[in-house]
Amino acid sequence: MKASIDRVGIIGGGQLAWMMAKEAPSLGLQVVVQTPHSDDPAVELATETVFAEIADAKATATLAEKCDAITFENEFVDLEELSKLADRGVCFRPHLSALKPLLDKYHQRCFLRDWGLPVPQFFKLEPTETRPAECSFPLVMKARRHGYDGQGTAIVSTQSEFDAVWQRWGNPSILVEAFVPFDRELAAIAARNRAGEFAIYPIVETQQEAQVCRRVIAPAHLSDTAIAQCHSIAKTLLEKLEVVGLFGIELFLTRDEKILVNEIAPRTHNSGHFSLDACETSQFAQLLRVVSDRPLGSTAMKSNAAVMVNLLGYEVSRSDYREKRSAMEAIPNATVYWYGKTESRPGRKLGHVTVLVENPSIAMEIARSIETIWYSHA
Ligand code: ADP
Repeated sequence: MKASIDRVGIIGGGQLAWMMAKEAPSLGLQVVVQTPHSDDPAVELATETVFAEIADAKATATLAEKCDAITFENEFVDLEELSKLADRGVCFRPHLSALKPLLDKYHQRCFLRDWGLPVPQFFKLEPTETRPAECSFPLVMKARRHGYDGQGTAIVSTQSEFDAVWQRWGNPSILVEAFVPFDRELAAIAARNRAGEFAIYPIVETQQEAQVCRRVIAPAHLSDTAIAQCHSIAKTLLEKLEVVGLFGIELFLTRDEKILVNEIAPRTHNSGHFSLDACETSQFAQLLRVVSDRPLGSTAMKSNAAVMVNLLGYEVSRSDYREKRSAMEAIPNATVYWYGKTESRPGRKLGHVTVLVENPSIAMEIARSIETIWYSHA
């Protein structure tokens, strides 16, 4: 490994890489991305791009020649092939060993359980098996790999729905888990550097609709006990995996104030976008600090509270929605991030808006006014 890390490689060139690339100059860093398309968001900000699919490890070998350390926007990589690069001295942050237990949702659940971390009741279901009797309806079916934004997750209430989903997926081996009647969903963003320093952002509330994150409220209104549980889970996880990186941890808060882990993202996460405006160090700058071996930055909030709203596509269009963006920019203390994607499709994440607020009780009202502007059809 080079003594100083000046060029950071990112596997993936979507909005997460784009936001990391925006933060790089303030740390004197350059980024090089591996992404398939010339119109992917991060390409315009990257010093160089290796145009290839995320899982193309040969392309990652080329990426490695152009940078000093590699991190991930997207974890759907070919770990086996990347291990050969790591054996030849390519520096991955996080290390591949920290990703390995997480990429298959069933394996991830087993590791979390074995480390004593609280998870919903879960089962593995092989193609030849029938639904375990202990797991009653409603239940949640999850594809073991490559799920994101609710793709590969189905909440089902009857055996016929269950059968239909499984058949639609081609009857693969799946993860089946108990439906958690949560009070709220939460998320923690935590970082750990090579020196073992640990930092965690304020715990946020995330609100999903149809399994896709719609808005985030920071900080979540929680008891000290619940916050302490979240911190302890995050710290245990990052230390067990000896993470040199930044993870997003999705959590359930149950009605009796227990915290359960839903899912680990071994990278920056949608629930941490608020940190760009609301925290001393954004999650993107924090990951860059980790990758370039700097001390961690402060995760303290600069405002009392913040609300982040995702701008999801609701039609097929090539519009850049300039008028709607201007209307949202006119909201006091709002910042609009537009990822510059050339095509809008229903459900596609096109941008987000963060609004800093004094009083968290108005966060939902602000979110609704943003959504009214965004989803209204002219
Ligand atoms: P993805 O990897 O696609 O993001 P997740 O596993 O995070 O999938 O699930 C997406 C959403 O589905 C969660 O945010 C939550 O709203 C819902 N969900 C997932 N698992 C459960 C569960 N066991 N009980 C209740 N809701 C769940």
